[in-house]
Amino acid sequence: MKILIVEDEPKLNAGLVTGLQNRGYAVDFAFDGEEGEKMARMNEYDLIVLDIMLPKRDGLEVCRSLRANGQQVPVLFLTARDAIEDKIIGLNLGGDDYLVKPFSFDELVARIRALLRRSPQTVGDILSMDGLKLDTRSQTVIVNGRAIDLTLREYGLLEYLLRNQGAVVTREEILTHVWDRFYDSLSNVVDVHLKNLRKKLPAAYAKRIETVWGKGYRLI
Ligand code: CA
Repeated sequence: MKILIVEDEPKLNAGLVTGLQNRGYAVDFAFDGEEGEKMARMNEYDLIVLDIMLPKRDGLEVCRSLRANGQQVPVLFLTARDAIEDKIIGLNLGGDDYLVKPFSFDELVARIRALLRRSPQTVGDILSMDGLKLDTRSQTVIVNGRAIDLTLREYGLLEYLLRNQGAVVTREEILTHVWDRFYDSLSNVVDVHLKNLRKKLPAAYAKRIETVWGKGYRLI
């Protein structure tokens, strides 16, 4: 799952990026509203963490503009403690939730998980497929009661396939949602990680990840 952080305070921005990457998310970041909006229009994010007080263009303007452009991506606003009006305006403009600064990182992660918990095969924090369970809270994968040891990328890849079960996903879509932006899209990085993921899964599950020639992959 890929998240965009738009936050002008450098330390907070860096802390959020590192923290979320460690939880298995692909993360892009911007330091002002203009850059953030440009990135949100160019890339397909699964969620945007959007500070309200930003240089160049404030978060409320960015959200208004994205919604006017038809973008439905979930938006989690960050607001200063005393700016209660901002929260109300933000939610009216199509924001999905807000957090008041200062907040705990665990609280942010809990809100993010709640906003991403929308696809039909999700029950609570668990994505499941027969005996396979992927827990987005602990980033663990259990198959028939046995834990499977995956890297964060392999975990991200499996999560994306599970959320799109039955659909063909292209390498570009996988790169967009599972990797950060500084990636060479011509490399075979997706294929390499997919091969490793298949090796780690029990055969009955590995063979359900089909290669669709000339297109990409499909989890059946
Ligand atoms: Ca700010």
